[in-house]
Amino acid sequence: MSALTLSNVTKSFGKTEVIAGVDLNVEPGEFCVFVGPSGCGKSTLLRMIAGLEDVTSGDVTIGGNRVNDVAPAKREIAMVFQSYALYPHLTVRDNMGLALKQAGASKAEISGATEKASGMLGLQPLLERRPAELSGGQRQRVAIGRAIVRRPKLFLFDEPLSNLDAALRVATRIEIARLHRELGATMIYVTHDQVEAMTLADKIVVLRAGRVEQVGRPMDLYNDPANTFVAGFIGSPQMNFLKSAPLGMSSAQMGIRPEHVAISAEAGQIAGRISHVEKLGGETLVYALTEDHGLLTVRLFGEHDYAVDSAVWLTPDAARAFHFDADGARIRG
Ligand code: ADP
Repeated sequence: MSALTLSNVTKSFGKTEVIAGVDLNVEPGEFCVFVGPSGCGKSTLLRMIAGLEDVTSGDVTIGGNRVNDVAPAKREIAMVFQSYALYPHLTVRDNMGLALKQAGASKAEISGATEKASGMLGLQPLLERRPAELSGGQRQRVAIGRAIVRRPKLFLFDEPLSNLDAALRVATRIEIARLHRELGATMIYVTHDQVEAMTLADKIVVLRAGRVEQVGRPMDLYNDPANTFVAGFIGSPQMNFLKSAPLGMSSAQMGIRPEHVAISAEAGQIAGRISHVEKLGGETLVYALTEDHGLLTVRLFGEHDYAVDSAVWLTPDAARAFHFDADGARIRG
């Protein structure tokens, strides 16, 4: 039995349809990430699973039970928000144990579950503090700990790393992946960040304007995108799209990832001029302006020097190219 099933779920606010018929199965223990640009409907979909928004039509099923009409508190889910949503007047210990207390659990049960979750997250030294005495990263750990204590059927995360700085974001991402492994729990995670999606997910759901563009494992989306939207969204820096297909190809558009374009000062297929170079330390991104295809990105391992305005030749690796029809759908084979 699936841990979560969405069957033709739609959502309209007034006359505006923001979720346009989503079908999805999430298996027990799976880490499923909803990813897509801002406004595509990720949070609305998550909030319908949580019961914080009604569905306009379709069914939400958690652990085999249709929950459309079940109150959020009765859905056996725990949600972790971007804003942490901790009670400021309660200690970390009491924040973590509150849901169990409200459910009528015994003191021993609450303290056992709180100790266990705080052990997993390294929160023991902070148990008597209040949220105001914690850093942003610590608050987010408490919010995650509070979710673990409840032993929910589903963990729901709504952009939980967005308020953390870059280093802490990576550390917390790794921590969430570890917790998922240790707990074996089913997790649904919303983000606009394709790197978070790629690194955390067993299954990625790419959304665009309230519709599912593609569902798949991270490397399957990277290696086998269904259309130009997914091809452009997954992978950083973004895939290059060549407007007129070179190499005598008949497809309307060719896509080539920046790591699959060779650059040479002497010879190649596409003439260009260097417009900008970004040295990131371990890699260098070279942006070249071409007459036929606009600005193309080349990703090189290590440090490289190219003078702005110098002439270069670019050569896509034909074996790694993707081909799309005029509507953006992938042409395979
Ligand atoms: P995402 O999480 O992908 O950024 P949201 O789910 O927040 O997207 O929003 C999807 C669309 O629904 C957006 O166009 C947003 O403006 C609209 N929307 C979200 N909540 C409401 C609401 N309560 N009333 C009206 N429109 C809403």
